[in-house]
Order: sequence, then C-alpha cells, then structure tokens
Amino acid sequence: MRRWSELAERVAATTRTSEKTALLAEYLRMLSPDELPIAVVFLTGRPFPEADQRATGIGWATIAAAVSAIADTDRADLATAYDRFSDLSAAVGDVLANAGHAPDPAASPSLVEVASTFAAIESAGGPARKSTLLADLLVRCDPKTARGVIRVISGELRIGLREGLVDAAIAQAFGRELDEVKRAGMLTGDIGRTATLAQEGGLATAELALFHPLKFMLASPAEDAREILTRLGPEVWVEDKYDGIRCQLHRLGSEVRLYSRDLHDVSGQFPEVVGAARDLTWDGILDGEVLAYRDGIVLPFIALQSRLGRKDPSKALLEEVPVIYVAFDVLGLRRHAAQGDGAVPTDDAVAPMLEEPLTDRRLALEHLGLPLVADGGAFALSHLATAGSVDALEAAFSEARARRNEGLMVKDPTSRYSPGRRGYGWLKMKKALATIDCVVVGVEVGHGKRHGVLSDYTFAVRDEEADRLVTIGKAYSGLTDAEIATMTRWFEEHTISQHGRYRLVEPTVVVEVAFDVILRSNRHTSGFALRFPRIAHLRLDKSAAEADTLATVRELYEGLQHGAEHLVTAAARKAG
Ligand code: AMP
Repeated sequence: MRRWSELAERVAATTRTSEKTALLAEYLRMLSPDELPIAVVFLTGRPFPEADQRATGIGWATIAAAVSAIADTDRADLATAYDRFSDLSAAVGDVLANAGHAPDPAASPSLVEVASTFAAIESAGGPARKSTLLADLLVRCDPKTARGVIRVISGELRIGLREGLVDAAIAQAFGRELDEVKRAGMLTGDIGRTATLAQEGGLATAELALFHPLKFMLASPAEDAREILTRLGPEVWVEDKYDGIRCQLHRLGSEVRLYSRDLHDVSGQFPEVVGAARDLTWDGILDGEVLAYRDGIVLPFIALQSRLGRKDPSKALLEEVPVIYVAFDVLGLRRHAAQGDGAVPTDDAVAPMLEEPLTDRRLALEHLGLPLVADGGAFALSHLATAGSVDALEAAFSEARARRNEGLMVKDPTSRYSPGRRGYGWLKMKKALATIDCVVVGVEVGHGKRHGVLSDYTFAVRDEEADRLVTIGKAYSGLTDAEIATMTRWFEEHTISQHGRYRLVEPTVVVEVAFDVILRSNRHTSGFALRFPRIAHLRLDKSAAEADTLATVRELYEGLQHGAEHLVTAAARKAG
C-alpha cells in the first residue's frame, strides 16, 4: 500500500497525461497477480469494484474517530486541517504527520491486507467497530500511506486521473492495444478483471456475462433543437425521456435481476417486473426505465418515489403504485436453443450487441416479443419517432410533454452503445432550459418555517482539469418537507465542520438544479452563478462523480450567449 500511495502522490504531482500514464504503467507492471486487480480498483477511487454491491459505510465521523484513536488529536484538528486543504486525505496525512505518527516501516500493510480490511469494515456492524478496524489499519501506516488509504475509502482520489487513463496505463504496462483493453473493459464492466486479462494475455477472451452489470450509456444535455440537429442531424431518432429509474434487466431462465444506475441490485424493489421477465422466452440484457404507471398513464416521479429503496414492498403498495419496465435498448442476447437440437446453453455468456448500431439493436428489441402493458404484461417499448428539422423536434418535444414525460432523448441512429460514456450519441432535451446536476458542499438552517432544518444548500460542479469541486450557487431547497427532514439528518451526520450557521458537508449528495440564466460571477469559485436557481430533484441515484462539469457549464453559458444574441438579432430585425 505504501508504494500505491507514493504512486498516487507522483501521479498527482504531474499534469502531463503521458507522464501520468508512464508512471502508472511502470507501477502496474511490477505487481503480482494478487495485487494487480486491487491496485487498479483502488485507482478508480473505490475500495471495491464498481459493480460490487458492497460499500464500507464509512463517513467523515468514523474516519475522524479512527484518527483520534491513533494520534493524540481531536476532531477539531482534523476539521481545521480540512479547512486548509479541502481534501480529507490530505487533512488526515497532515494531522498524523504533525502528531509525529511514525510506525515501523516493516509493519506497513500490503495491498491485499488493506483490501481485506475494507471487506471486514464493510461487514462490521456499527460505526464503533468500523472505526476500530480502520484505526488498526491506520496505526500501521505512515502518514503518506494513511493518505492513500483515505483517498480510496473516502472515494476522493484527487490525483487527476481522467477517464480512460488507467485503461491506457494497462495497455502500456502489458504491451496490449488500447482498443483491446477498452473492449474488454466494456464487456467485463470490471477494470480489475480487465487488468488481469491484460497481464495474462487473455483480453480476447473477455465476455459479456449475465448478472455482471455493465455501466450505463449516458446522455449529454443539449441546449435546443438547432444544436441537436447540428450535432446529430440530418435525421435523428427521438424517444420520450421518461422520468423514472434507469434499470438494466438481466435474464437467464427463471433468474432475473434488475440493476440501478449505480450498478446495485434492485430486483427486490420491483417484483412485478421480475415476475413478468420470468415468462420471457430468451436470455439477455435490456436497458430501460422503470416507471410508475396506471391505466395507460405515466404517474409522476413523486409516486414512484414511494417504491424506491423498499425491498419486498407490501401488497398494498404494489397496488397503490404499480410499475412497468419501458425498454429502449438491448445490450446482448442469447436465444434459447430450439428444442431438441441439443445445443443447450451451458454458461452465462451472451453475444454482445454493443457494437451494433442503434438501428439494429432496436430492431432486435422489437422482435423480442416483450409482454406489453397493452396486452396485460409489465413491459413497454420507448416511444420512437424520427425528426429532421427544428420544427419536427420541437413538435416531438411538446408531444412527449403532453404524454407526461420529461422531454426527449435524441439519439444518433448509427450510434454504438458506449457503457459509462457521456458522449454525443445521445442528447437529452428536457426543458426550455437545461438543468445541471450539482454536488451539495454546504448547508445552512433555513428561515421561517424552515427554521431548525438544513434547507439552504450551497452546491458545486466538477472542475475536471483541476480535479476539484467549484461552487456555482446557493438555493433554498425545493424539496418536500419529508425529504428535507431526511436530508437534515443525513447532513448532520456527515458534517465536516461548522462555521456559525454554515456546515461544510461531505460532498456526496447530488441535486438537479434548474435556473433561468448562467452569469459570470466572482462570488463563486466556478466563476459562474445561476440566476434564480431552484432544486428540481434530489438525485440520490447519482454519485458526485456523475455531477456536471465546469466545462458543461461553460458550454451552456456560451450557448446561452448565442441564444441571447439570436434573440437580440431577431428582435432587432423585427424592430427594423
Ligand atoms: P438525466 O438523468 O437527467 O441525466 O438523464 C438521463 C437519463 O434519462 C438516463 O439515465 C435514463 O435514466 C433516462 N431516460 C429516460 N428515457 C430514456 C430513453 N428513452 N433513453 C435513454 N434514457 C432515458
């Protein structure tokens, strides 16, 4: 772990991508088969592989308790250090160094030991036990190594690793083609496994496997119809943008699982979809959205919310808020062997369809014979149309809204399915103005009826270049009283430090913020401010890493400037 932590510091110290890749490659090449997948997963800023259902359940308070237990410090020292660095791992390293923490280097834990401690922390009940396990680990780590452990456990790596850089390092380390590494990564959905395959020379054997969720393809926000057609035209595919929960459906015989955007198994929450999928006649993987739906009408997201997070929902709840699965993509398929031909499927591998164009995937989807709601089943296909002009797109948008959907998903019919990528193959057109997803970094008690609850949020976007969060605004929460109460408890437990009314909180909660205009401003560290920001949705399905970036804000700002110019020109023309 000491070498991993030193590597992290060296990678953070250079801004040159080629140097970062070379440092990583040199390090990965030295590792044993046991160490390699662990080191690579840690380099994604996660204690466990992304699709792993486990989480350590450790927050600021537990880390602070572990640090106080091994060094003669208290919570306030850590909070002061955090204020200075705005980085939890740097704060822990600093506090330990100042406390003269210098354990015997021979006792420094290996990567394998750190990984098994993370597993033990995950299964330990209660914060006290978790904190003791973490303290037992940190006591053996010098301050630099402790910083490495905290980088991973807090999920805030902050070493400037852009997407794809670890893939490039794996390719370089083992002399493989980058495309081969990327393809294997896409199919296995597991970067540790991909590294192992690269080390063994087995990248070509990577397969899409059932019950190993893939990352979801993501969409970029689009400003308006004109921009969409410029990017994807001349003719685009438009689907309704459903306001539900994204789910990947895997089926093999009677075994059916649903995975959420964060790759967690949510099958228990939607028994009607799981039950309906058992009756299918093929095995494979679908992408779609779970929606609350009754008598031909999509119910608002708020109705679906009462179903979220409830495993094994009661019969009454199932009747009150029925759900359906709206399928819009198929990622892989394995048809059942025709009876009697003897070719019985033997394992859980499926033929991937990710590299086929959307047109072919949609055709395959339409031929699956999904039991549709119209026929009493629990499935629907996304509403699909084509558009080749601004007017046609705007009309499709209004129609989608009339069907009570959020807006449009505009797709390039030739696009491949790119797991985990927010490319331009899919664009989302939501409202007259885009919303942005921000991370809450600070909270305050409200005024009037919101006195006593933490209802005012300061939020930030990701500055990818500087690898940090930059604030962009502050808004009174537009959430329901129940949501505010739940979030108040959460923020109280995840407060890093308190400054009068203001609490600096762990930057993990994502909110979708609506606004009227983006302005240049020195008030916030992003250099931008939002006019009339309103919190439209709490996005507990998104992680901070999925929040929008400063680059997107800049693009939206420039787009809006253009839009404004366009309006001015139109107005001037009218006046003239
Ligand atoms: P957002 O959550 O605002 O970033 O918008 C992207 C999300 O829209 C996706 O992750 C899906 O959950 C959802 N979505 C709704 N309808 C569709 C559709 N027809 N195709 C793809 N994604 C959709």
